Amino acid sequence: MPATSNIYPTKQLQERDAAHHIHPFTDTGALNREGSRIITGAEGVWLTDSDGNRYLDGMAGLWCTQVGHGRKEIADAVYDQMRQLDYYNTFFKTSHPPAVELADKLAQLTPPQFNRVFYTGSGSEANDTVFRMVRTYWDLMGEPKRKHIIGRWNGYHGSTLAGTSLGGMTAMHAQGDLPIPGVHHIAQPYWFGEGGDMSQEEFGLLTARELERAIEEIGPENVAAFIAEPIQGAGGVIIPPETYWPEISRIVKKFGILLVVDEVICGFGRLGTWFGSDYYGIEPDLMPIAKGLSSGYLPIGGVMVADKVANAFIEKGGEFFHGYTYSGHPACCAAALANLKIMEEEKLVERVAEDIGPYLQKSWKELGDHPLVGEARMVGLVGALELVPVKGDRSKAFTPVGDVGTLCRDISFNNGLVMRAVRDSMIISPPLVISHEEADMLVERATKTLDQTFDRLK
Ligand code: PLP
Repeated sequence: MPATSNIYPTKQLQERDAAHHIHPFTDTGALNREGSRIITGAEGVWLTDSDGNRYLDGMAGLWCTQVGHGRKEIADAVYDQMRQLDYYNTFFKTSHPPAVELADKLAQLTPPQFNRVFYTGSGSEANDTVFRMVRTYWDLMGEPKRKHIIGRWNGYHGSTLAGTSLGGMTAMHAQGDLPIPGVHHIAQPYWFGEGGDMSQEEFGLLTARELERAIEEIGPENVAAFIAEPIQGAGGVIIPPETYWPEISRIVKKFGILLVVDEVICGFGRLGTWFGSDYYGIEPDLMPIAKGLSSGYLPIGGVMVADKVANAFIEKGGEFFHGYTYSGHPACCAAALANLKIMEEEKLVERVAEDIGPYLQKSWKELGDHPLVGEARMVGLVGALELVPVKGDRSKAFTPVGDVGTLCRDISFNNGLVMRAVRDSMIISPPLVISHEEADMLVERATKTLDQTFDRLK
């Protein structure tokens, strides 16, 4: 029996968990009262808990398990790597074969301006790296006043100081007195919630032009970069109107600022392209990556660095005083390489674009007819349902915001489907290997969940 199997009764695990474990993004008081859900095993798109219940993992872990759970190829690659070279660092001009091989592979998979990666242990560390890299780049370019970075309200770039600051989650800013000085936020292209009477196209242009307005207000000579996710994930799967990214690209070019496209969720096939930047035709200068890079099997992230930025460091930089003990960890690189091999061999990106993506999108979008749903949207294999109190009226929201979403999420769990609630939106982002039959089960369970939530609100 594997060491992590459920050899203890659930209650005992919950009590010890509550006594000794402070969880991320969790109300510890509530956890102490209610107990945690203990997951003991996973295979494909299925999770098993300590009471033997099975759940369809509609969130691919935390938007990361592209190749599904339990892939022996990855476990074997990590085992072999650990026996060959368990750990060595990549500081001070040292390297090792898996770090070299993965960097080379990433240079092949990413858009052509990228030929180099800076390894990190997570998406948050990638964005902290971005923060220091962007400011240092402008110092090297002889424009040291360019220190201001613009992000978006309700964007998410991680939980570290720079990640939280660059993100636009006000509840996160309030804890730790953030953002760091020099970080600004503009409106998000969230048409369903904030678009008023405007068409999607008009609203896309309006919110993109907020960037132009902000740059002019701060002073173009002071602005270093703009950072955004192609589709905001944690903010509620905010799919921008078609007019948005072309206008952002125009503005970024006009003012010559760096464009940072956070691919931590959209990267590695989620939208049916290798990267969200490919999907939207965006040309970033820096690209934070993580999650799907290793399908979450081991922690690894990175920043893809375009030649323009890398060359400044190579030609004028000297030492970049930045790095993590686990930058390019051999076992994590081996996991990522095995994961990317599976993705290529099983043509998972093409599968999302041509097969399972369109298949699930069709039935997911039909959920838009449900009386509780104001909009059902999906690109590739990431989607949202906007729950509304009055069908057909986007101006009305549930009060307090979030209670109905939480209720729906809990009902969904009881129906054997993991969906995430963001405010009153229900989110899915399933593994890219989900079968047609499992996609049908996902939609059946989501429908049952919507019906039961609707009944509870009567
Ligand atoms: N950037 C984006 C877009 C994310 O969605 C996340 C995590 O959800 C992060 C960064 C932070 O990544 P991590 O949790 O690996 O630090």
